[in-house]
Amino acid sequence: MGAAPGHGPDMTGPRKLSCQTCGTTETHVPLSDAQKAWLRQEIGEPYVEEYFLCVRTRADGTGCRNLRTSWAKKRFRQPKRMPDDIE
Ligand SMILES: [Zn+2]
Repeated sequence: MGAAPGHGPDMTGPRKLSCQTCGTTETHVPLSDAQKAWLRQEIGEPYVEEYFLCVRTRADGTGCRNLRTSWAKKRFRQPKRMPDDIE
């Protein structure tokens, strides 16, 4: 008992997804509460649970932080990036 990771697919953990700006498959993580609050304001949508953020570190040392949903690689007309100061 206790060994099973849960029932059904894990909808809340990190996952490998293709990134629009990296051009490769990268690890994406769900948003924090603060990031969700920012995104709700940014896009004017109340439900942002399906968004993920690319955690790849770019050549300049900053994070990619490109946003997408679990099913849509190009969610926005222009790539949308989570600001660095919102953790
Ligand atoms: Zn990326």
